[in-house]
Formats: sequence, structure tokens, C-alpha cells
Amino acid sequence: MRKIIFNAGPAVLPEIVLAQASEGILNVNNEGISIAEISHRSQLFKSILEETLHLIRELGAIGTDHEVILMQGGARLQFAQIPMNFLSKESKAGFIDTGYWAHKAMEYAAYYGQTDIIASSQEKQYRHIPNTLDFKSTKGYAYIHLTSNNTIYGTQFHQIPVVESPLIIDMSSDVFSRVMDYSKIEFAYACAQKNIGPAGLSIAIVKKEFLARAHTQLPPVFSYQLLAAKKSNYYTPPVLATYISLLNLRWLKAQGGVSAIEALNAQKAKALYAEIDRNTLFENHVQTEDRSLMNVCFTMSLSDLEQQFITFCEKHNIIGIKGHKVTGGIRASIYNAQTMDNVQQLIQVMQAFEEKCINK
Ligand code: PMP
Repeated sequence: MRKIIFNAGPAVLPEIVLAQASEGILNVNNEGISIAEISHRSQLFKSILEETLHLIRELGAIGTDHEVILMQGGARLQFAQIPMNFLSKESKAGFIDTGYWAHKAMEYAAYYGQTDIIASSQEKQYRHIPNTLDFKSTKGYAYIHLTSNNTIYGTQFHQIPVVESPLIIDMSSDVFSRVMDYSKIEFAYACAQKNIGPAGLSIAIVKKEFLARAHTQLPPVFSYQLLAAKKSNYYTPPVLATYISLLNLRWLKAQGGVSAIEALNAQKAKALYAEIDRNTLFENHVQTEDRSLMNVCFTMSLSDLEQQFITFCEKHNIIGIKGHKVTGGIRASIYNAQTMDNVQQLIQVMQAFEEKCINK
């Protein structure tokens, strides 16, 4: 029996996508060859890549003033590649510190140039998104970096702040989960393993004007300008991850695209938070208006009880709900491919566990 998967990433993929991927592993497009065997210079892969880039543009309503780039590796590679391209010892990048990943992005940037914290919610254990009124001046930076959804803390920017320097956003855990105006964003990036496809791939959506400012004296594998000019087919791309991502993006389009999935995501999160707020055993500590619609994090009064709940979930076929090691607690990741049925199953198990504890 297939498990009910609440992993934070790599995360659940639609079953139909997995079935199509399995077919492609044996015989892609009926060509008599596996997707794992085709050349990245073949016409078939070129058409897979082209359709993937096209679908990203279509789903994100991304105009011709932006380039879309697909790359090997995950978000941490981007933490390094971004400052390699856009920062120097003479310039400074500003960071909105909303927790572990936001902070890591800054630590990586510090290898290449100066960094500065524009705002932070550290003093409140990252349980809220910093208010723009508390931001330091955002003028004069090479770029300002923020993390739109904080996978570990379960917080999310529901409004993207207006800043006075180029804006770079790590959208790893909420890309394509909601409609976004990319025209206001110089550089958006995401690892694939949450809302796009399997691990091994990252995407970047870069304003051409900003791309023109990138350094060129760097190893070609790291040069965004070069990767864009080569249409994401310079080094051998992650062929399999790209193919499965394409299947998943086709699935997203068939669901009605990003606005349709956004409405469904809101319903899933609403149902789950309502149960946490109602259930006497669970608590969510995030400032209500900053609650993430992707990663629902909660705790129980006794950590011993948390382990019992996780085991209880496993008995009911539910996996992947243990919180990140830095926060502990419980986390249910409800990305695009998570179904409302699965969320309802988790809610029922939360109710059954409450019943069990009360009647003990
Ligand atoms: N940024 C965010 C928001 C994340 O959630 C993660 C991973 N969970 C990362 C960066 C790091 O991604 P990777 O493991 O692909 O380097």
C-alpha cells in the first residue's frame, strides 16, 4: 500500500506522475530507450528541456524580460552561486533573517563579499516574519535576499516586501504554490524536491537586466550568463530529474495551473490549522498571519507524547511528520502534490490520538 507522505523534501509526487515516470524509465515516448539512457544532446532531450522551460514560463506567467535557467544541484549550491555571480569584496548583500535557511544563505555569501542583516525574527525564535516597518534601509545593496517560505519554522511571507535594491528570493519550498508577480523580482530560485520534481535540479528565474550585471570571470559551470546563453544545456543536465519535473509541471497545468492549486493549498492549510487550534493536544506557535501554507509545524506539551504521536501516525500509514532537528516538534508538509484526502486522513488520526489520550 502506498504511504501517506508528509516529507519536507524530497516530498510526495502525484501518483500519475510516478506512473508516467516509470514508463519513461523503461521506454520513453515509445522510442525504445530509457530516459536514463538518452543523450542530453539528443533531439528528444532537447524537446524535453524546451517544454520544461516553456511550462515554467507559462505556469509562472514569466515574461520575456526574464531568463529561466535549469541547473544541477540543490538550493545550497545556489546559496554559493548567487554571491559568486553578484557579490564582491567591495559590495554588500542584505539578508532578511527568518531562520536556518535564510541564515545559511548569508553564511555562504560571506565567502564572497560583505553581508548585512536587514531584519531578523531570531529574538522570537523565528516565529514570525519581520515587519517591513522594522527593516533597516534597503538602499545601496548589490542585492537583498529573502526566503519566501521557511520550511523549518512554518512561516511564510504572504506579501513580498518592496525593497530598494535588487530582490533575490529563495522560493525552494513555495515556488508555484501561489501566484507570484515575477516582474518585481530580480532573481527567484528553488530546488526542485518540494514543488517541482525530484532532487538534483534547481530552477532560477532571472531578470535579464540583473543578469547583465553578473561577473563573467568565474568558472563557466557557475556562470548564470553562460548557462542562460546555452539554454540550460551546457554541462550534462540532470536528465531524469528534468524529465520527472516536466511530467509534474504538466500535471500542475492539468490541475488548472498555479491559481487553481493556490486555492486548493489554502483549503488544505485551513483545515489542518483549524484542527491544531481545536485539538487540546497540539499547538502552533507561529504568529497567525505568518503561518505557512506549505509547512504546518506544531508541537505537543510533552516531547514524549510527540514521539508517541509520530508512532501512532506510522501505524496509520502516515510518514514524514517529524519536525526538523533544529526545532523538533511535528511538521506536515502539504506541497502542491499533497491531496486534501491525505490532509483529512492526518486530521482524523490527530482526532483519534486525542480520543486515545483522553480515555487513557
Ligand atoms: N532553502 C529552503 C527554503 C529549504 O527548504 C531548503 C531545503 N529544505 C534549502 C534551502 C536547502 O536545499 P538543498 O538541500 O537542496 O540544498
